[in-house]
Amino acid sequence: MTIPPPLALAAIHASHSGVWLRAGSEAKGWTTRGLSKGEAIVAAADTPLLLLNAPLVASRLGYPDLSGLDLLELFAFIHPARFVVPTPKGLAHALGLPEPGADDAVPGFLTAAAGALLAHCTAPDWPEREGAWTALQSLIKLRWAWAPLLNQHITKPERGERWLFSRLPEWDEANERPQPLQVTLPAEAIRHRLAELTGIGFEGPGGLGAAESRPGQQAYAEAAAHIFAPRRAERAPHILLAEAGTGTGKTLGYLAPAALWAEESGGTVWVSTFTKALQRQLRRESRRAWGDTLAGARAKVVVRKGRENYICLLNLEDALQGGFGGRAAIMAQLVARWAAYTADGDMIGGDLPGWLGTLFRARGITALTDRRGECVYAGCPHYRKCFIERSARASADADLVIANHALVMVNAARGKDNAPRPTRIIFDEGHHVFEAADSTFAAALTGAEAIELRRWVMGPEKGARGRRRGLAARLADISSYDEAGAIAIAAALTAAEALPSDGWLQRVGEGEPSGPIEALLGAVRATVYARDESGGQEAGYGLETEAAGMEGEFVEAATEAEAALAVLRQPLLRLGARLEAVLADPPDWLDGQGRARIEGACRALGWRTELIAAWESLLARMGGPADPQFVDWLAVDRAEAREYDMGIHRRWLDPMKPFAETVLAPAHGVMLTSATLRDRGGGAQSGDDWDAAMARSGAGHIDVAPRLAAFPSPFDYGTQAEVLIVTDVAKGDIAGLAGAYARLIEASGGGALGLFTAIKRLRAVYGRIADRLARTGLPLYAQHIDPIDTGTLVDIFRDEPRASLLGTDALRDGVDVPGHSLRLVIMEQVPWPKPSILHRARRMANPTGGQAYDDRIIRARLAQGFGRLIRSAEDRGHFVVLSAAFPSRLLSAFPQDAPVIRCTLDEALQRVAASVLPSQTQTADSPPHEADR
Ligand code: SF4
Repeated sequence: MTIPPPLALAAIHASHSGVWLRAGSEAKGWTTRGLSKGEAIVAAADTPLLLLNAPLVASRLGYPDLSGLDLLELFAFIHPARFVVPTPKGLAHALGLPEPGADDAVPGFLTAAAGALLAHCTAPDWPEREGAWTALQSLIKLRWAWAPLLNQHITKPERGERWLFSRLPEWDEANERPQPLQVTLPAEAIRHRLAELTGIGFEGPGGLGAAESRPGQQAYAEAAAHIFAPRRAERAPHILLAEAGTGTGKTLGYLAPAALWAEESGGTVWVSTFTKALQRQLRRESRRAWGDTLAGARAKVVVRKGRENYICLLNLEDALQGGFGGRAAIMAQLVARWAAYTADGDMIGGDLPGWLGTLFRARGITALTDRRGECVYAGCPHYRKCFIERSARASADADLVIANHALVMVNAARGKDNAPRPTRIIFDEGHHVFEAADSTFAAALTGAEAIELRRWVMGPEKGARGRRRGLAARLADISSYDEAGAIAIAAALTAAEALPSDGWLQRVGEGEPSGPIEALLGAVRATVYARDESGGQEAGYGLETEAAGMEGEFVEAATEAEAALAVLRQPLLRLGARLEAVLADPPDWLDGQGRARIEGACRALGWRTELIAAWESLLARMGGPADPQFVDWLAVDRAEAREYDMGIHRRWLDPMKPFAETVLAPAHGVMLTSATLRDRGGGAQSGDDWDAAMARSGAGHIDVAPRLAAFPSPFDYGTQAEVLIVTDVAKGDIAGLAGAYARLIEASGGGALGLFTAIKRLRAVYGRIADRLARTGLPLYAQHIDPIDTGTLVDIFRDEPRASLLGTDALRDGVDVPGHSLRLVIMEQVPWPKPSILHRARRMANPTGGQAYDDRIIRARLAQGFGRLIRSAEDRGHFVVLSAAFPSRLLSAFPQDAPVIRCTLDEALQRVAASVLPSQTQTADSPPHEADR
């Protein structure tokens, strides 16, 4: 392969260990030198420099206004919808170039990568050529930095080329599936299917079926078949709680009976996950059972997400036609390039690079999705190409739908879109079902929610850009046809004036609210500031107080707000009834598309009136006694002491109650599975291991006794892992904490995942150690600090064995990095739950006591954190908790055979370092330290 010439431009690279600039000219030659941050900023201001990931370079230089020729933008244009880890190494792999060995080689590499990328544009086999010239013409007008260079390499097509909207295929309406046949799956058939699945893709001497044998996987697959048996009584689904230790092979374990049942019954199985990482894995593994979908054929496996994940083509068109300005308009063009090549239009966790949005430092990505429920359905010119509609239809006809917990619950609760409700559901990562139900069935009357409702009813306020339209415009044809409908719309528009409008936050902050809802928010704010004793005021955190013992003035404000909401709800209800009437007795002009649009409007009206009714009931109780089923509180949301929202919140004390009614009762079979389903509390206080898991399944609310099954991990934790409890880092000693992190990361040579319970401490530690580590060739990345989305941070961490990553909750459970890249997990302290009002209420309601409740949460967090460490039989590693007083009763969180050692930091460093250098390995022979059990 001939390597194209590098691009003759200056290039810059910055890391925590320094800054390097490659500069020169054709005549004098090119040289790379290290320079100070100040010099680098001057150089970048003088001339546009080649760089990789401008926001990251800007943050390393401490110069937020940095701009230049970013290779990631070029990559997104030339290879839309292609995966690349956004680092020099990742780019080298994606382009088939040699990796730059060290930091000072990176600027030279960037010039080579730019040359290679531009050369693709002249290659006859550039797969993403179609549409590029047309997009480039728009980007030239927008003065995109790369446009002049690309213009020299992309020739005008001889014939007009198909561009975004004309390239996208249309979906077809599918017939409704008949109800599934009632079948019973023989154990023998399940074993055979499992053998087939585990055989595919594995290289073994016997070929198919000669896969690695996993003890327990077969028994697990047979147990999973329970949920596919014919149901015996209404409202009595088969429920299985199956705990399967890491390494059991649970994905293929449940896909085997699921595939068999789908094949024999003609029904659809839903598998629901909590994290995107597992969703990606399921997508891969489901190919073993169903293969790849051939072009034009029915999709047997469909990934289904909430509408807010997908690109809305109408929003995109609007952005392309002037709805977005400046840099955001350039981003819209790059998104349009992606939209023409994406597999499924999923912008959040799909094939749109997670880093694209952060390159433009704007919230443009979310503005391109259909977050606000303004879809006009068949009234949309792109309806037949819409990704959301395509995925909804495909899932109605699929064998397997891969979804997430929230979507399964919302679908069950609202019965929306075109897919029939799921009846056979496998909740993988089942330990998260409780928290997903908690947020799905919550109600919150806040300023941000209320202004959204206003915009949905009234449309954008004056001066706002974009195509967004209010109810009147969306239903213009109905209002001209149906007088009662027109009157209802007019009444709703008048009533919506009571909702907060632009600038509400400032008005409320200044004590000058406008309208009854803003007045209520003002009362919320005043009450919260008057009562809060959390200490969050000085720290800049969010504030909250119980909704109890409210003063007369507050109750008055709540009553007025409730009345205003009731005035709004009435015309919306009347409008819904009018739309139903139009559908029941349709006029001649109402075609299929018009009908679909009105059905969509009915659904949207339905759940908005439910939302308003929930707000009214929340307000109605402000002056009276609390409903023991709910926990209500007032909150002011703040980030770094700046307020961004406020309002009244309501959660179910036990969210599994509505979950049981909406998801379990109508289902035929439901499985909750996870590596950490049971609590291993032991002792008389916490009772049977399964008690908490059963309570958190919701089965008790519909009087079903779930079947229970547990499958131990096949890993040998005794030799693969060590838990080190470091006892000499004092709590609150940030310098000591940072020093411990740095030394542990140095001892392991990187490959560390650092988990924090507070962002503030994460920032403090990162700020103290990032430069020091970088100087020894150990890059450090951090959630909440690096301008990179979490998914991309994990991709970078996986790709660089010497890198380490610091983060909070999302990393404790959503990181699947098998192998050498993750060999050390460090927890800064015992992960206590945040003492919020909601937490206190649930703690008090716990039948086995408050401490048992807290302990169960902590043990679950420790088990999840530990679960990141050993992902395969070859993995080795240490799990370190920096806690001088780690309670022994929490140690049962770890696998029984994992050695637990309380030691000083120095001893911990020795043990970590010893496992890095095999010659020094001493775990097998070293004398046992104080063991806690
Ligand atoms: S049908 Fe709705 S979501 Fe789809 S592109 Fe049109 S407006 Fe957007």
